[in-house]
Amino acid sequence: MRDHESFDYLIVGAGSAGCVLANRLTEDAATTVCLFEAGPRDKNMLIHIPAGFIRMMFHPTYNWMFMSPPDPNMKGRQTYVPRGKTLGGSSSINGMIYMRGHRRDFDEWADLGNAGWGYDDLLAYFRKSEHNENYNDGKVHGREGPLNVKYLDSPNPLNHVFLEAVESLQKRRIPDFNAGENEGFGIFQVTIKNGRRHSLANAFLHPAENRANLKVLANAQVRRIIIEDGRATGVEINAGGETRRIHAAREVIVSAGAIQSPQLLMLSGIGDGEELRKHGIEVKRALAGVGHNLQDHISAPVHFMSPRITSYGISIPALPKIAWHFLLYGIARKGMLGNNIVESGGFIRTRPGLDRPDVQHIFVPTHQGKPGRLLAWGHGFRITCVLVRPKSKGRIGLSSASANDPPVIDFRFFSDPEGADIDTLVRGIKDARRILMAPAFDYYRGPAVWPPEKVQSDEELRDFVREVSSTIFHPVGTCKMGKDDMAVVDDRLRVRGVAGLRVIDASIMPTITTGNTNAPVIAIAEKGADMVKADARAALRAAA
Ligand SMILES: Cc1cc2nc3c(=O)[nH]c(=O)nc-3n(C[C@H](O)[C@H](O)[C@H](O)COP(=O)(O)OP(=O)(O)OC[C@H]3O[C@@H](n4cnc5c(N)ncnc54)[C@H](O)[C@@H]3O)c2cc1C
Repeated sequence: MRDHESFDYLIVGAGSAGCVLANRLTEDAATTVCLFEAGPRDKNMLIHIPAGFIRMMFHPTYNWMFMSPPDPNMKGRQTYVPRGKTLGGSSSINGMIYMRGHRRDFDEWADLGNAGWGYDDLLAYFRKSEHNENYNDGKVHGREGPLNVKYLDSPNPLNHVFLEAVESLQKRRIPDFNAGENEGFGIFQVTIKNGRRHSLANAFLHPAENRANLKVLANAQVRRIIIEDGRATGVEINAGGETRRIHAAREVIVSAGAIQSPQLLMLSGIGDGEELRKHGIEVKRALAGVGHNLQDHISAPVHFMSPRITSYGISIPALPKIAWHFLLYGIARKGMLGNNIVESGGFIRTRPGLDRPDVQHIFVPTHQGKPGRLLAWGHGFRITCVLVRPKSKGRIGLSSASANDPPVIDFRFFSDPEGADIDTLVRGIKDARRILMAPAFDYYRGPAVWPPEKVQSDEELRDFVREVSSTIFHPVGTCKMGKDDMAVVDDRLRVRGVAGLRVIDASIMPTITTGNTNAPVIAIAEKGADMVKADARAALRAAA
């Protein structure tokens, strides 16, 4: 085993958070960083063409394609869990919706005792990361950051039909989902630049890769964090079949995402002592919360076929249109291939007395074929109803002591004792049905696919939800930040009781945000980078 290289910081995982950290920490030329990514470089062109998202959702090279175990609450079904496995991580395969969440999401983190994590604190970091093409107010949006955010130039026309339907029901239109309050309906902002996906690799990593103080190792899986005398001193990696150790002069930062960060901590001896011993892993630091508190956004579709070819979709009559759009994209990077498919939607409160929305509607102008798929032969449209404030919590466990084996992803959807989660989703479905049954859709609406028309009562709808629901891929919370016994990191994102080790990614969220999770992860990483730098300066001062 080779064992000689040393860097100030080792970052595990070149996903949304890892790319931001690699860029920000190497802004100081005197700081050295090595970034490890288990997957290959992001060379495939389908990563960069926005509509290529449909393929990336199931691409075995660039996607971990995990499966959960069968879940009795989902009629014994397994849940598909795509995760990015390339530079950019999940931001290289995601739906590109830019959604910060509701201000209460972050104020709640602060209320839980996490100093400096309220909405006003994080707003500075949302702004810092962003180059918004459409807003230049200086207060809510940023113009100087690396991440391009914009409205699509030409969303599918059915999005406007959707918004007409919404307005006909006297529902609120919202000018900007990203201004702290997100209740209402509108077109989403997206992370796309010049017709190409603006993944975090494209926005933050590639522009920094020519820095002499940054080394990026793709196809390099970290198998274990080395912990000596209560301190993380390096990592053991497997790259090209060879096992190597790399030394961290200052810190190891784990940014492997909400599924794999807890797995890596456990493989390294940090976690629930009982679970670790069960797999023959030596306990370096007992921390009961590692892997617990798993939260995700579960969803169910309301879906109609369409006799028109307006939706995205493949059919003989649509072939000339499709050919034209390929040409248009080739010439000008415009048209449907430059769009992200999930282009509009909204947030609603399904009952009075809530302090923020509990359901997100995502309008998708495609025929889905099967639940969980994005596109199939034919035309149609749907609303994906998403439970954005779930009460049920799951857990990441180990299937073995080997980094080659996937973790156990036990979501425990709909396990909350009051059954509030499934009831909320049922109310969301009823609302979505009203929208898609509005006269604005009369010209476009064919037969109902999901739920079938005969499914009407709450009991039938609950059954339908258990039959077809799937996640929209936002797992968070499995190394939560906090002060209680189940917290894994403190509010400076340091792993409790292990020196020189932080977790900075989606797993530190104590509670899930009201909306898609990429933008919050980016803000977390921006703030995390500032904390790492500040702590390094403080340590230098103390040593002087
Ligand atoms: C299909 C899909 C669609 C989505 N759509 C949207 C959307 O439209 N809008 C939105 O806001 N959010 C969306 N999300 C969620 C969003 O992309 C994620 O919340 C965010 O990217 C998570 O960032 P992260 O840094 O925590 O983890 P990731 O970006 O997943 O990064 C983790 C990285 O670590 C690597 N890694 C893991 N283990 C190791 C190891 N041991 N050694 C080395 N490397 C390792 C992984 O390969 C990966 O590259 C979507 C996610 C998916 C999967």
